[in-house]
Amino acid sequence: MKRVLVLGSTGSIGTQALEVIGASQELQAVGLAAGSGWEATAEQAREHGVPAIALADAEAAERAREAWSGRVLAGEEGVRELIATSEPDLVLNAIVGAAGLGSTIVALSEGIDVALANKESLVLGGELVTALAEATGARLLPVDSEHSALFQLIGGEAPGTVERLVLTASGGPFRGREDLSGVSVGDALAHPTWRMGGRITIDSATLMNKGFEAIEAHHLFAVPYERIEVVVHPQSLVHSLIHLNDGSSLAHLGYPDMRVPISYALNHPERADVDAPRLDLAAAGSLTFEQPDLETFACLRLALEAGRAGGTAPTVLNAADEVAVAAFLAERIAFTAIPAVVERVLEAMPARPVRHFDDLFAADAEARERSEEQIRVLMPA
Ligand code: NDP
Repeated sequence: MKRVLVLGSTGSIGTQALEVIGASQELQAVGLAAGSGWEATAEQAREHGVPAIALADAEAAERAREAWSGRVLAGEEGVRELIATSEPDLVLNAIVGAAGLGSTIVALSEGIDVALANKESLVLGGELVTALAEATGARLLPVDSEHSALFQLIGGEAPGTVERLVLTASGGPFRGREDLSGVSVGDALAHPTWRMGGRITIDSATLMNKGFEAIEAHHLFAVPYERIEVVVHPQSLVHSLIHLNDGSSLAHLGYPDMRVPISYALNHPERADVDAPRLDLAAAGSLTFEQPDLETFACLRLALEAGRAGGTAPTVLNAADEVAVAAFLAERIAFTAIPAVVERVLEAMPARPVRHFDDLFAADAEARERSEEQIRVLMPA
C-alpha cells in the first residue's frame, strides 16, 4: 500500500486525485491539506478515512476542529508539519500558486517523492528545487499532462538521443482572435477542452500557462529553451511529443482527462487501470497544429523571455501574473491588462541571481507589491 498525502485536496486536481485513490487497492490517503475550505476538507477526510488534515488558513482550521474529531493542523506551518509527521511515501502537491513552493521544499528535504501538479514550484524554484531533489534522492513525478507525457516518452530513450521537446497547447477560448479587448471573466473561464481551477484556466486563455510549462519542462528534463517548442493543437489529443536523433518523433495521445496523468504519477513505476474513455482516432477525425501567436498572446512571449533570463525573472513573472489574474477575476482590470502588468513589473525588476530560496521569496514579495501598484494605475476610474 502506497501512503499518499494530498495537498490542495479540495481543488480540481485534488478531488480527481482522491477519486483515483478511492478507486485503488494500492493507494491510501494519509492526510489532506487545503487553504480555507474546511467543510470540504473535513468531508473528504471522513469519506476517505484520513486521520489528519491541515488548513493553511488558521481560522478555517479552528472551524474544522469544531466540526471534525480527527487531527487538525493550522497555518502554513501546519501544512509543513503534516508533511513531516504523516509518514507519506508520496506527497501530491496540488496547491495553487507560489504558496505550493514551501511544501515541495519540505517534502524533498525529508527525502519524500513529490507528485508535482504545482508547476509554480519549478517556475519559481527551478534550479534549487531540482538540486534539492538530487541531493536527497527524492523524485519529482510530473502531474501536468504535457510533462507526464514527456516523462513517459523520454523515459525509454538513451541519454543524448532526444533532440527537441514539443509542448502542445489547446490555444484556449480565444485562439485565432487578434483583439482581446472586451473579453469578460465568463468568456475567459470557458476553456474549450479542459476543466480546471480558476487561475490555470485564465493562464490557459492568455497562454501564460504554456510559458510556465516550458519553464517547468526546462527544469524537469534539463533541456535548454532552444530545444523546447510550443505548438497549438486545438483538439488537445496529443499531449506532447519528442523528436529523436534518428528522425523519429514520438507522441503521447489521449482524451483530456487529468485522472490519467494523476494515476500515472501516483502509481509510478506501475500503471493502474483508469476508467477513462479510450481514444477513437477515426471519431476524432483530424488533428491540427499551428504556430502560437506571440503578439496577441504576449504572456507566452514574456514567459519564454523570463525563462531564458533565469534568476529571479520567472519568480517575478509568476507573482505578477498571480496578482494580475486575481485582479482580472475580481473584475478590477481588463483581460488585456494581465500581460501589461506582467511586462511592466518584469521591466522594473531585472533578473537577479538566486543563491537561496530566500532570494525567491523576497523577489516574489516585491513583485506582488509592484503588481498591485501597476493595477492601481491601470484600473478604470
Ligand atoms: P484549484 O484552484 O482548483 O485548487 C487549489 C487547491 O489549493 C485547493 O484545494 C485550495 O484549497 C488549495 N490551497 C490554496 N492555497 C493553499 C495553501 N496555502 N496551502 C494549502 N492548500 C492551499 O487549482 P487546480 O487544482 O486547478 O490547480 C492546482 C495546481 O495544479 C496549480 O499549480 C495548477 O497550475 C496545477 N495544474 C492543474 C491542472 C488542472 O487540470 N486543474 C492541470 C495541470 C496542472 P481551498 O479550496 O481551501 O482554497
